Amino acid sequence: MSTLPTVGHLIGGKLTQGGTRQADVFNPATGQAEKRVLLADKATVEQAIANAQAAFPAWRNTPPLKRARVMGNLKVLLEAHADQICAMITAEHGKVMSDAMGELQRGIENVEYASYVPELLKGEHSKNVGPAIDSWSEFQALGVTAGITPFNFPAMVPLWMWPMAVACGNCFILKPSERDPSSTLRIAELALEAGLPPGVLNVVNGDKEAVDTLLTHPLVKAISFVGSTPIAEYIYATGCAHGKRVQALGGAKNHAVVMPDADVANAVNALMGAAYGSCGERCMAIPLVVAVGDETADAVIAGLKIEIAKMKVGPGTDATSDMGPLVTKPHFEKVRGYVDQGVAEGATLLVDGRGVKVEGHEEGYFLGPCLFDNVKPGMTIYQEEIFGPVLGVVRVKTLQEAMDLIDAHEYGNGTCIFTRDGEAARYFTDNIQVGMVGVNVPLPVPVAYHSFGGWKRSLFGDLHAYGPDAARFYTKRKTITQRWPSAGVREGTMFSFPSSK
Ligand code: NAD
Repeated sequence: MSTLPTVGHLIGGKLTQGGTRQADVFNPATGQAEKRVLLADKATVEQAIANAQAAFPAWRNTPPLKRARVMGNLKVLLEAHADQICAMITAEHGKVMSDAMGELQRGIENVEYASYVPELLKGEHSKNVGPAIDSWSEFQALGVTAGITPFNFPAMVPLWMWPMAVACGNCFILKPSERDPSSTLRIAELALEAGLPPGVLNVVNGDKEAVDTLLTHPLVKAISFVGSTPIAEYIYATGCAHGKRVQALGGAKNHAVVMPDADVANAVNALMGAAYGSCGERCMAIPLVVAVGDETADAVIAGLKIEIAKMKVGPGTDATSDMGPLVTKPHFEKVRGYVDQGVAEGATLLVDGRGVKVEGHEEGYFLGPCLFDNVKPGMTIYQEEIFGPVLGVVRVKTLQEAMDLIDAHEYGNGTCIFTRDGEAARYFTDNIQVGMVGVNVPLPVPVAYHSFGGWKRSLFGDLHAYGPDAARFYTKRKTITQRWPSAGVREGTMFSFPSSK
């Protein structure tokens, strides 16, 4: 019997156990299991759904400003507990503390945006659309909504979803990643403290069994998903087949184009953070540089090699570490396998991070930064999402060649161009088939009051995550047409279709 502390669920405002299966939660810097997470069974998820459904009528009728105030309170609590939350993220995800702080801050900005919900729900009104007839559209809450989130942003990605969903008057079931569940659950506890009524937000930890229950349950009206593309596709197909509104954000392979006229020193600095920050475990990371011209490629590589040599790999708790470990042992082995495969397929490995050892953390999942030159479109390391600290340089001759490569790739999450040429930048932003585009900005992650989403196989569904799209995703439009004729005015019988002719 394990003596490790367990991470359970939050249902109906109470921390609960539920489900007989459990999984280890590892500290990736030490390779040791430090907690056990309970994996919800069908009955546990059904209990969460029943609690959410019971809380819905009163919450839906709570004035939007009062719902928004809970978000304001939560923002203050999240700021006050930032150190605790980020320590939990680092202990289970592995990312360095400063990066965890950045993720939490981006999450808080989504909470802040959700507190503007009365403005977003104001609707549309038209007077006198016909004789004594007024018409208006309002945005009504859906009911029970759900979110399924990935390991790589355990605080931020859930905060993309449920604050706006509940601010709009819905109740919510969150199924976080089973690999790093603690910070997500802690934030949900703080939401209760902020004044969210019991049952409005429920957290069920678990795996496929929990997800499948959400996907098929008739009371769940909408599902937001963020994770890998194969699972996103499954969630979208299954959720839609069960009549739900679904947005499913998937994987990525983001290209950064460097033009011959770019400020190479700036581009190199930007690429370092975008490729190796968070150990490359970001859906907006840059794993590919497309250098236009051999001179550009040589200059970028020379700069990257100098900067990589300065990087410090170590535990996320050490403030001097630039990059922590990968999240789990299987993921570490998978990423290392991609490096082996890149070598076998003929790419030139210029910096090999496979031998990195971190003193005192010999069992941790540390992989040093890797840099490949001569990566070609047919190679596995070009095609597949690696989700690790592996950067590949692709050499092309023209901007158009670079853009054709990007457009041919199955993913279309993010991309960027480094240039001083406004015409080239404008042509790129205008035409590239990607959802989020940067110009001299390596990680063009939209701020909380814009929406986030990729194109092609990086997003299944129509509306993007957070921002204004979220207020539409978590509500349905109702249009009301109302006549109040003056006393004594009678309309005659009319068989033609009413119009304004
Ligand atoms: P994942 O797809 O393995 O897991 C995501 C969620 O799905 C987890 O909650 C997990 O429990 C659940 N899940 C896993 N397998 C399932 C199955 N067979 N049936 C039902 N549910 C299942 O993703 P991950 O490894 O946690 O996260 C990394 C991936 O997420 C990367 O591909 C990354 O690009 C992607 N991601 C995308 C975005 C975006 O906005 N597009 C943001 C962050 C991460």
